[in-house]
Amino acid sequence: MELRLYDTLTKEKRNFAPIDPANVRMYVCGPTVYDFAHIGNARPVIVFDVLFRLLRHLYGEAHVKYVRNITDVDDKINDRAARDYPGLPLNEAIRRVTEQTERQFHDDVDALGCLRPTVEPRATEHIGEMCSIIEKLVAGGFAYVEQDHVLFSPSAMNAANGVLPRYGALANRSLDEMIAGARVDVAPYKRDATDFVLWKPSKPGEPSWPSPAGISTPGRPGWHIECSAMSWKHLGETFDIHGGGIDLVFPHHENEVAQSCCAFHTSRMAQTWMHNGFLQVEGEKMSKSLGNFITIRELLATDKFGGRSWDGATLRLAMLKTHYRQPIDWTADALHEAEKAIFDWSDFTKDATPARCDEVIAALTDDLNTPKMIAELHALRRAGKADELRGAMQLLGINPVVRAPVDLDATAKSLIEARTAARANKDWKESDRIRDELAAMGVVLKDGKDADGKPVTTWEIAR
Ligand SMILES: [Zn+2]
Repeated sequence: MELRLYDTLTKEKRNFAPIDPANVRMYVCGPTVYDFAHIGNARPVIVFDVLFRLLRHLYGEAHVKYVRNITDVDDKINDRAARDYPGLPLNEAIRRVTEQTERQFHDDVDALGCLRPTVEPRATEHIGEMCSIIEKLVAGGFAYVEQDHVLFSPSAMNAANGVLPRYGALANRSLDEMIAGARVDVAPYKRDATDFVLWKPSKPGEPSWPSPAGISTPGRPGWHIECSAMSWKHLGETFDIHGGGIDLVFPHHENEVAQSCCAFHTSRMAQTWMHNGFLQVEGEKMSKSLGNFITIRELLATDKFGGRSWDGATLRLAMLKTHYRQPIDWTADALHEAEKAIFDWSDFTKDATPARCDEVIAALTDDLNTPKMIAELHALRRAGKADELRGAMQLLGINPVVRAPVDLDATAKSLIEARTAARANKDWKESDRIRDELAAMGVVLKDGKDADGKPVTTWEIAR
């Protein structure tokens, strides 16, 4: 079956032809690990997981390599480490923050039904590759050293002849526009307003490494160079698919292309560039100041959104209902609708043997048309095709969920409220009695803490 994917660079849907069908290679920009991932971060993780599953289906599991990096060097990480572990040396504090956040991220995206990528490289383990690319760029005249920084020059790239793409082609902007639009107070170490940092000096106490390009003081990499280095190390100079959120097109991906193509003298970094659209919450841009900022963990384990917690499969299906290139509006209504379908499909397919469904695969091979695919799932349900429905759910990573009767949900919630009140009054006897009452109904309680450290109790059906 022909796979067609929309390419951000050429702005058209094209037949996908891997450079090497025995080794299909995809890179997706991963998380910066300093805090719980929010629901907007979950979108590329889910979207490219579906593509990963589809590629494995089409080319064979052993023939697809998916690399998603972990950014573990960043100012936000340093700030969080200094705040959370004031008594520790900064490097030790940073290690604690990044390891803990990486664990949380894995727990969250595992719950969303996402497969682990083939490789999850960490930026701090690829400093050597970054320095090697920077040396190539300086030697080729694409980058220069100024005040212990190394800067990339888009003007130098566009002045060069040969196979190189034009800087600005991916974002569809001209360099003149960018220069005109640049801020007036340009950093003193930049020759041009559009030049961007490849390497910079570390402040005292910050993580630092020996600098490239003959700079004697220790320093640290800029953000964009990380992905050029990690994709090169794990996928080669050019590869098949590069993905991420639409907000990464400029400057991050534009700069990745510039670095990789100029370092390796290639016309393309990736054959296909794919970007998922924005996510908003109940019709508004998600932001901490609006109070609608919501993490994956809060959706899974607290009642912060829609007054209750949600299963990972529900969140996944709700995410896939909108085509990945469209903006998505994240609403409680959509979650209720997705949950209803999941419960129904899970129940209907509980004794089924997974079978192949061509219509579902056809929808996915048309630029991951997940709305069409979900319509096909409903059609399979209506036609009573349990085996195909179960097979399609499996292909999409939608795990069956045991149904909780609606009245049970309400009863459990009010009993949990009564128990929380009893616990607040230190009435342990009453608290235990309610726990036993719920256990008799087949409900198990889980006491934990939310992101702010507040006690929170969730429940599930005993299996
Ligand atoms: Zn990246």
